[in-house]
This record gives sequence, C-alpha cells and structure tokens, in this order.
Amino acid sequence: MAKTFSALEKNILKSKGLTDAQLKKLAKAGIKGREDFKTVGDATTLRQLVAGLSADAAASVVAWALGGGSAGGGSVVVDSPDAVYCVHCRTRQPKDYKSGDLCGSCGKQAEPILTCYWCSAGGPGKFCRQCGAEFVPTAELELALLLKREGLPKDAIPGKLKAMSPAEKDVLWGRIRKSRG
Ligand SMILES: [Zn+2]
Ligand SMILES: [Zn+2]
Repeated sequence: MAKTFSALEKNILKSKGLTDAQLKKLAKAGIKGREDFKTVGDATTLRQLVAGLSADAAASVVAWALGGGSAGGGSVVVDSPDAVYCVHCRTRQPKDYKSGDLCGSCGKQAEPILTCYWCSAGGPGKFCRQCGAEFVPTAELELALLLKREGLPKDAIPGKLKAMSPAEKDVLWGRIRKSRG
C-alpha cells in the first residue's frame, strides 16, 4: 500500500499555507507522510525541496510535523507573543503582516474590527487609526465608555481596564446596568 497523506493531513498542510501544487511537490520529493517531515528536519530543508514555499508556511508545517506524536523531548516551538492568528481560520499570519491585511489563507480580514471607545471609529489592529487610542477588547467596550464618561484621559483607560480585578469590573458593570435604568 502506497503511503500518502490522509485527507486530514492534506487539509492541515493547506491550512498552513501549502497549495495543491506544493503538496504535489512534497510527494515528488518523497515526503508522503507526516513522519517524512522528521527526516526533512527543518524549515530550510523543506523550502529547498518545495520551491515557492514561504518561510512562514515551511516553519509552521515543520512545527506541526515535529510537534505532536513524538514522545520524549524534542524542541518545542514557541510562538512569538505578537503572532497574529486569523480570527476566521486560525492561520498564523506571516511576519510581515500588518494590521488590516487580508489573511493569506482564507482571504478575509485576519483581525477583528474593533470599535474605538474614544472616537467610535472602527478598525483592525491594536490602535485606533483616527485618534490613536489603544483598543480595548470588545467585551470591555462598555466599561471603557463608562471610564471615558467619568473623565479618565484617553491614554489611561486601557491600562486602567487591564489593572482592574474582575470584582472591580463587576462593580462597574453594575453601574452600567443601573444607568440603563
Ligand atoms: Zn483566515
Ligand atoms: Zn479612536
């Protein structure tokens, strides 16, 4: 029985940025299963075998292939903390990703559009393009609006929210509910 990638493995490889053509190149190079990536060993070698494969896709494929399954040590690939994952398909965005870019895998905007508590403009990324305020999580938008009404300066609100305990936030939520009547 000829060994080949399962449908699931193919889908995983595609989710990591491989095209159908690149999947064929894998097979041509003799990589016919997840185990074979262990022989390949690293992203650089993989890119030499599969022309046109992006560095990021190669890295995530190798991380996937070497990551699970093999018990006993091995290197753990730790994502950099500022890695951006597509909210639609969870594909990791390339290093040169900029806020507002479309996801290379599914073509949708990779980041959620957040609403600015300060000027109500919407946009992707960490900061409002209109007024420069740091976005707060959507779930905490109402809290930020309340802090704004209470006269907190723009730059102080995200930090204040981050520093608040869940109990303190609950108190704020209570006041928001009251103010709604
Ligand atoms: Zn996507
Ligand atoms: Zn703004």
